[in-house]
Amino acid sequence: MLDNLEKFTNLKRDIAQINLDPLQRGGILTPAARAALMEWGDGYSICDFCAGRLDRIKTPPVEEFVHEVLPEFLGTDEVRITHGAREGKFAAMHALCEKGDWVVMDGNAHYTTVLAAERAGLKIEYVPSSGEPSYAIRAEGYAEAIERAYEHKGNVSMAVLTYPDGNYGNMADARAVADACHDYGVPLLLNGAYAVGRMPVSARDLGADIIVGSGHKSMAASGPVGVLGASEEYARIIFRLSPTKKNKEVELLGCTVRGAPLLTMMASFPAVVERIRSWPEEVEKARWFVAKMERLGMEQQGDRPHNHDLIFFKAENLYAISQIAKKGRYFLYRDLKDHGICGIKPGLTRQFKLSTFGLSRAELETVLGAFEEIIISYAKA
Ligand SMILES: *Cc1c(COP(=O)(O)O)cnc(C)c1O
Repeated sequence: MLDNLEKFTNLKRDIAQINLDPLQRGGILTPAARAALMEWGDGYSICDFCAGRLDRIKTPPVEEFVHEVLPEFLGTDEVRITHGAREGKFAAMHALCEKGDWVVMDGNAHYTTVLAAERAGLKIEYVPSSGEPSYAIRAEGYAEAIERAYEHKGNVSMAVLTYPDGNYGNMADARAVADACHDYGVPLLLNGAYAVGRMPVSARDLGADIIVGSGHKSMAASGPVGVLGASEEYARIIFRLSPTKKNKEVELLGCTVRGAPLLTMMASFPAVVERIRSWPEEVEKARWFVAKMERLGMEQQGDRPHNHDLIFFKAENLYAISQIAKKGRYFLYRDLKDHGICGIKPGLTRQFKLSTFGLSRAELETVLGAFEEIIISYAKA
């Protein structure tokens, strides 16, 4: 096993020119972040000038980034760096909820929200979505779910809203959800994995008590890295200090991201702030793309009109082709790849998601042209 290891030394990445994968569109590095990755790639590279608190390092300016810039950016009192959105959710749940408590979450919640709750020993009450085709989450659903948990004699210690969710790109009315939760004294955690770094989000304006974001998903960072913000009331508990180890925050195990991933997030941050200003154009572009795809016979699911670049399509026409195509259900993946396009999962035809984020209209015209050509080519066959 330990001879013949050469294959691990020259690892190449094979991707098409246009990548539609929603997971990846917001995590593409800026040139500055790519340089930071090289500069800070060595292990523990950030620790040269640390006096015991990672978030207080002054050179490079981590302290200013974490304690001044990010709180303003997220609209929270306190922010810390995590390894990702999921680690932020787990830290908040673990700190604020007791084992056996209930957490209420939307039916569109990401699997990592469920795992964070399970790891923290919590029970889950869902707010069901309206189902096909809009999969909408209503604020009143939160009050109803909290009431149901009470009927189980449960203590509800947190609610989570996925904003937007990672399947349909639906933006629920977060302000109304926060109000519903606060009527019961339940804090709201906003999962902004697909929002923070793409679009304007202020936890304070939306009434969220806690917010998480994902650096590698939406903040042009290499990751694993994320942000966890909380209002003073909850930050005090989540970021409590160890009684024995000086200056170390227990929930974060002292230090989180100890090098390059954090530096890539910092290096791309000015560009991220800048790109958020173009969010209205991103939404307009997504809607334009939806209209064109529907003209080709596919059907967008979720919010209409759509308010996010993550778009879910139902495609009965492509499913029909998969029934007759020589490559079966892999035809779409292979044919798109022949057009220089990747990012739709191999084997999916009847329903799939994609993202238009950061792609030019010309690139999206190429994508639309590819879909059209593929559909026509099988109509002839
Ligand atoms: C991708 C995603 C996550 C996970 O983010 P990580 O930073 O990788 O933990 C969580 N929630 C949603 C809605 C996501 O789309």
